[in-house]
Amino acid sequence: MFVDTHLHIEELGDATEVVQQAVAAGVTRMIAVGVNLDRSSNAVSLGHAYEEVWAGIGHYPLEESEPDLAALNAMAKDEMVVVVGEIGLDFEHVGGPHRDLQMQRLNEMFSLAVENDLPVSVHNRGAANEVLEAIKSHGGIRGVMHYFALDWEWAKKFLDVGFYLSFAGLVTRPSRDDLREVVKHCPADRILLETDSPYGNAQKRMGVPNRPAFLVDTAEVVAELRGITMEQLGDQERSNAIALFQKMK
Ligand SMILES: [Zn+2]
Repeated sequence: MFVDTHLHIEELGDATEVVQQAVAAGVTRMIAVGVNLDRSSNAVSLGHAYEEVWAGIGHYPLEESEPDLAALNAMAKDEMVVVVGEIGLDFEHVGGPHRDLQMQRLNEMFSLAVENDLPVSVHNRGAANEVLEAIKSHGGIRGVMHYFALDWEWAKKFLDVGFYLSFAGLVTRPSRDDLREVVKHCPADRILLETDSPYGNAQKRMGVPNRPAFLVDTAEVVAELRGITMEQLGDQERSNAIALFQKMK
């Protein structure tokens, strides 16, 4: 039984069918993250509609709109909200909000998370140093580096500040031996899994929209690299998810 700790379920079409397919594949808990206020609100609604779904509320780094912090703060109190995300920094995308503005927003979202005693789900592209510094400057922040894509040297730095690493389809790509090294070395109690559906496909399903059911493709590779069974990985990952996303009981 696995947890898909980060997906964009509203982009996948019929949520009932998506959830049923996931459960049939052994993915029994999903965290639908939000990238702006409307979609965060939608994630919360899905959390209430489906027993298997919890919600993240966030403001994606490339969002052009201003985050409505008061509204997000009110939403954070909802019983189904288990994480502040998707938030983060994206310095690789051409265009979008200036780096300084992205960093200001990241700090605002970190503050919102700490105030509401929620973890964060952090997107990082080309800004690992800046994300790490922001984590260090916010006492009490806890969370996960979503779609982890860096090498073991960087992994250690995020593990050292108490963060979890969430592995996605990227670990199945032939070119990512560096990432598979991270999977092998990551402490068992810091491993999470996600699909980032409809993005983040595993190698064997390139070209089709990703789905939470396909988490098992990534899980198979992770279990093999760590020399454990799928069942052992599922038990560990679920207990890690419950430890981090505390409102997900
Ligand atoms: Zn995402």
